Amino acid sequence: MTKERSQQLFEKAQKSLVGGVNSPVRAYKAVGGTPVFIKQGSGSHVVCEDDQRYIDYVLSYGPLILGHAHPEILAELEKTMTHGTTFGAPTTLETALAEKIKTFYSYVDKVRFVSSGTEAAMSVIRLARGVTKKSLVVKFKGCYHGHVDSLLVSAGSGSATLGVADSAGVLLDVASHTAVLDYNQPQQVVDFFNEYGDDIACVLLEPVAGNMGVVLPDLEFIKTCRKCCDDTGAMLVFDEVMCGFRTQRSGTHEWIGVEPDMVILGKVIGGGLPCGAYAGSQRFMDHVAPLGSVYQAGTLSGNPLAMAAGLATLSNLEDGRVFDQINRYTTALAEGIRDCISLLTLDAVVTQKGSMFTLFFTKNTPKTFEDVQTCDFERFKAFFHAMLSQGIFLPPSQYEACFTSFAHTNDDLKKTLSSIKQGLSMFSD
Ligand code: PMP
Repeated sequence: MTKERSQQLFEKAQKSLVGGVNSPVRAYKAVGGTPVFIKQGSGSHVVCEDDQRYIDYVLSYGPLILGHAHPEILAELEKTMTHGTTFGAPTTLETALAEKIKTFYSYVDKVRFVSSGTEAAMSVIRLARGVTKKSLVVKFKGCYHGHVDSLLVSAGSGSATLGVADSAGVLLDVASHTAVLDYNQPQQVVDFFNEYGDDIACVLLEPVAGNMGVVLPDLEFIKTCRKCCDDTGAMLVFDEVMCGFRTQRSGTHEWIGVEPDMVILGKVIGGGLPCGAYAGSQRFMDHVAPLGSVYQAGTLSGNPLAMAAGLATLSNLEDGRVFDQINRYTTALAEGIRDCISLLTLDAVVTQKGSMFTLFFTKNTPKTFEDVQTCDFERFKAFFHAMLSQGIFLPPSQYEACFTSFAHTNDDLKKTLSSIKQGLSMFSD
C-alpha cells in the first residue's frame, strides 16, 4: 500500500511537533517506518491520507467501543455543542454520567471527573496518601498508569526493590516512594508488605493488564493484594482506564470476585473525548475537595462534550448486547489466530479478555513483564508491516493491546483472519 502522502505529512509534522506526534507510540519507533496519517474513521474502519482503508484494531487505544463516528454519539455531541462547550459551572450531564457509571460499578458511591487517565492516577495517589497518611505506592512491572512522575518508575528484575526513575526529569526522591513488584507474583506482595506494610498508602494495578500486551491476572495474586491492603489499611486501586467496560457488563471486580477500594477510569467513559475519573466509596471520596482536605481541580473537568459522548456510549452498553457481540467477535478472532498458529507450528500465543487481545510472539502465555520480554520483537515488527500492507491496522508495538468494537462485522473477521494467516505464513519453515 502506498504511503506517499503520509510520508510527506510526517516530514512536515516533525518540523513543528516533537517527533511529529503528540504521544510517543504513534511515531512507530518500535516497528520502524512511517506512521499512517488518518483522515477519517467510520465504524470498524479508518481511512488514511493516502486513501487506503484499514480494519481498525487500535480504536484510539481503547475508547471507541462502539466504533468510529457512531451516529448516536455524533448526534449527542452536536446537540450539546450548540448550547456551548464549557462553562466552569456544574451541568446535569456530569451527574448523569456519574450515575450511569455507578450502574456498572456497584462499589462506587461517588465519582470525580478529570480529563485523562494520567490525571486520574495522579489524583488517586494523592487521595490514598491523604487518607492513609502513608507514603509508599506499590505498582507492578509492565502496568502503565499514565505519565505521572511517581508512576514512571521501574525496578531491577527479580525481587522487589524501591524504584528508580524510568524517565529523565523524574527526581530520584519521587521515584523512591514507588515500589515496583512483578505482576502475578503474590509472594512478592506478601514479602513486601511484611517489610514495609506500615508505610504503604496504596496498591495500584491493572486488574487485566493491557500495557504489556494483554496479560491476565491470577486470582491468587489479586486476592493477596486485597488481603495485604485489608491487613494494613492500604488502599487497593484498580486501574480500569483500559480494561474498564472491556471485559463484561460491569467492572472487572465481578469477573475477578475481588472489589477494590477505588477505581480509576478513562477511555470508554469519554466516548472518544478527553476524560478520566476516579471513583469509590464515600468514605474515601469525601476526603476530596471541596468536602475534604485533598485538593484536586480542573478547568475542563466534567466537560459537557466529553460527558455527552460518555453518556451516549455507556447508554449503549447498559443492556449487555454490545458485550455479547464484541466478546463473541473477539473470541472467534482469538481462536482463529490460535488455529493459524498451530497449523503453522509457530512459537506464538494469543491472550484475550472480552474485547482486548494480543498476539505474542513467544512460546508460553505471558504472566509477567519478564515473560513478555521473551517475545521475538523482530517477528512482531515484520508481522505488523505485513498486516498494514493488507489493510489491517494494529497498534505498532508488541506491548500494546488490540481492541475490537461493536462495529466490527463478520466480513471484518473473515478478512482479518485470512490476512493474519497470510502474514503468519512468512514465519513457517
Ligand atoms: N492507565 C491505563 C491502564 C492506561 O492504559 C492509560 C493509557 N493508555 C492510562 C492510565 C493513562 O491514560 P491517559 O493516556 O488518558 O492519560
